[in-house]
Amino acid sequence: MDIKLLGLSLLELSYIVASVTFILGLKMLSSPDKARKGNLIAGYGMGLAIAATILFKEEFSPDKWLNYSLILAGLIIGTVIGVRMALKVKMTAMPQMVSFFNGMGGACAGVISLVEFDHLRHGGEVSTGMLIVILLGLIIGSVSFSGSMIAYGKLEGKIADKALPAGQIINILLLIAIFGLAGFLAISGNLSMPMLYGLLTLSLLYGVLFVMPIGGADMPVVISLLNSFTGMAAAFGGFLYGNQAMLTGGILVGSAGTILTVLMCTAMNRSLTNVIIGSFGGGNAASAKSGEQGTIKEISVTDAAILLAYANKVSVVPGYGLAVAQAQHTVHNLEKLLEDKGVELTYAIHPVAGRMPGHMNVLLAEADVPYPKLLEMEDANEGMASTDVVLVIGANDVVNPAAENDPSSPIYGMPVVKVWNAKNIIVLKRSMGKGYAGIENELFFHPKNRMLFGDAKDSLEKLIAELKNL
Ligand code: NAP
Repeated sequence: MDIKLLGLSLLELSYIVASVTFILGLKMLSSPDKARKGNLIAGYGMGLAIAATILFKEEFSPDKWLNYSLILAGLIIGTVIGVRMALKVKMTAMPQMVSFFNGMGGACAGVISLVEFDHLRHGGEVSTGMLIVILLGLIIGSVSFSGSMIAYGKLEGKIADKALPAGQIINILLLIAIFGLAGFLAISGNLSMPMLYGLLTLSLLYGVLFVMPIGGADMPVVISLLNSFTGMAAAFGGFLYGNQAMLTGGILVGSAGTILTVLMCTAMNRSLTNVIIGSFGGGNAASAKSGEQGTIKEISVTDAAILLAYANKVSVVPGYGLAVAQAQHTVHNLEKLLEDKGVELTYAIHPVAGRMPGHMNVLLAEADVPYPKLLEMEDANEGMASTDVVLVIGANDVVNPAAENDPSSPIYGMPVVKVWNAKNIIVLKRSMGKGYAGIENELFFHPKNRMLFGDAKDSLEKLIAELKNL
């Protein structure tokens, strides 16, 4: 079909429209109230790019019925699995799903490289540039696939953190072997399939060994890093096929993943190297401070309700436990009740509270908490001294004073919500259990702090019932 608009073919136009939807979608993802719409717009753009490729890339021919059937079968199977997973997934299991989908993207990029290498062997035009793109797509896509699968297994609790003895040396040797072999293939123009499978095996092995020792709490950072790898690998695929939509999509995913990785490391005040070789988190980290910590004071539901009802300003610090308890709607009800009583309530959002970037924003947006009520950590900290009560709900590491005052702590230097500057602190959690970094929290022993033990949702419901009686 040779229809042209503004000198562009329908295929080119579709790719431009798809690229614009990706950029718009990504932009909208940065604001919780527009994120859902942004995701849909980018999804439609992707649908358009797929449809245009099938319809306009090559002349339609009934002889290719097998190809069309395979594409259709792939679309149907992928859609059914994707929709089922997305509908079933719990908010707390979102990181593993992202990891799984990311792994699939990496696998696709790797398979594209395998197929294109085989095309070259059967008469394609061989150039060093083309070979480099194919080989890089294979390496990065395979590392991303196997690494993401290990990250998925770890977050599901099916694979334990395990470091091989001399693991770092083995990884460096593997990298040398991978790039040595790829360099040889690219420079010599050798199109040996067994060598390519060797490269594939080494890359898959590297992905496994690279992610295996990384601590549980650092998985979101690793997933984001692997996500940027997948983006790069997809961009190489875009080069190979001269597909601008794939190229733009890949570059956007690659750069967004890289920026997110850097932002998360900054939020934890750790370098990427420290994340990769630090083995931080997963509940196994040693407590930096041991010995006598002081006494724990508990608070009754009635006393907590009275404290809240007579406060002028309340700050809620949500954490992973809020997501586990699925208490987002309940906390929103508490917020409305307190506001009816004239209390000013805001939420202090730590950038790595929960288990994935933006976890708390997504959770609270789901419960229709108005976005202006969500304060970034820096703003929340500024207003802390004038806050009457801080309600820490299922958060632990992100309110740990050791980040400020204990240089031996693994989280030392991580910016935290300085709840101890408020007049009163109430922590809602089930027990004295540790957070993801696996360390003690001296906040629980702070003179201003009182513990309200129990499941966050139960405790909030009891608080609401009590407040209604006041
Ligand atoms: P956290 O330190 O993991 O603590 C969560 C607390 O919630 C636990 O101490 C637990 O105590 C409590 N809890 C669990 N279930 C609960 C329930 N049903 N009701 C009430 N409380 C419950 O969480 P966080 O303060 O949000 O910190 C996040 C951690 O993840 C940080 O270490 C951060 O560096 C890491 N991380 C996050 C990201 C990200 O992108 N968000 C990325 C990398 C790392 P009990 O068992 O006693 O109830």
